[in-house]
Amino acid sequence: MSESSRPEISVVIPVYNEELNLPTLFARLYPVLDGLGRSYEILFTNDGSADRSLQLLEKQHAARPDVTRVIDFNANYGQHMAIMAAFERVRGETILTLDADLQNPPEEIPNLLAKIDAGHDYVGGCRLDRKDSFFRTYASRIINVIRERITNIQMTDQGCMLRAYRRPIIDAIVQSGAINTFIPALAYSFAGNPAEVGVRHEERHAGVSNYSFYKLVRLNFDLVTGFSLAPLQYFTMFALACCGGSFVLVAVLAIRRLFFDYTAAEGLFTLFGILFFLMSVAIVGIGLIGEYVGRTYQVVRARQRYHVRAMLETRG
Ligand code: UDP
Ligand code: MG
Repeated sequence: MSESSRPEISVVIPVYNEELNLPTLFARLYPVLDGLGRSYEILFTNDGSADRSLQLLEKQHAARPDVTRVIDFNANYGQHMAIMAAFERVRGETILTLDADLQNPPEEIPNLLAKIDAGHDYVGGCRLDRKDSFFRTYASRIINVIRERITNIQMTDQGCMLRAYRRPIIDAIVQSGAINTFIPALAYSFAGNPAEVGVRHEERHAGVSNYSFYKLVRLNFDLVTGFSLAPLQYFTMFALACCGGSFVLVAVLAIRRLFFDYTAAEGLFTLFGILFFLMSVAIVGIGLIGEYVGRTYQVVRARQRYHVRAMLETRG
């Protein structure tokens, strides 16, 4: 491969309705990368934007065809799928992810690269002074604690997308078959020597966050079910507890009926006891089946979850 087709650095940026931010992003990002004195490429994924984002990306590709590549999705598949599509196509040795809304200042890129150069294979940015709404900040913290418990993945700031990865991590993510959609966690699970570095966090340059509460819940649900079967296991545990409880109830009622004073009205409770017992046995069964369906689902889900409509690139 020629020099231009194997750059040292690949920057990956998902774009969804960012027409107001892209001009400033271009103006700040390109000079930072040019100033590194290393070969680089930037991969933008247009995640089904409904505004003029695609036109702006096309213009930028025309202006800097040497370093700009654009993946165009036919519809909106979400930030992590947009990043995944870019990971499948990056050519660099070191890969960086960044948000398009300038909440991650491009000027921090050299700090991440310094950590990579120091021998870390995965560097996560932690937002030093989060400039998000009160709700967003605290909701994230609570979710982070729950997620850490369930998935055993330790990340100070799971929401910060300013991150750097060495090539083998990206290869592992791509080979994993895109089963999971949460890139920082997936990368963490493949990292051998991860590090974190504090980065500045800015207000969204323009527009509002694309994450509604619903999307945030969906993302975290994906994260939890994608990285563990804990929810199914909790369900089975609960069913087992019900089962044990009703077994005791049946036993107590049986003893009372056989050895102590028996009245007709209590026959009804005996029936209920037996019924509850059988019902909870059935629920345990459903829980167990769910467990296996869950495992199967994890494997079956290894399918492409997005469609690329067009690629804008100059082949090196
Ligand atoms: N994004 C995307 N697809 C989506 C939602 C967001 O590609 O469906 C991009 C968005 O353009 C931005 C990044 O993902 O570059 C982070 O999105 P946002 O700023 O809305 O999230 P927040 O900063 O609130 O976490
Ligand atoms: Mg943002």
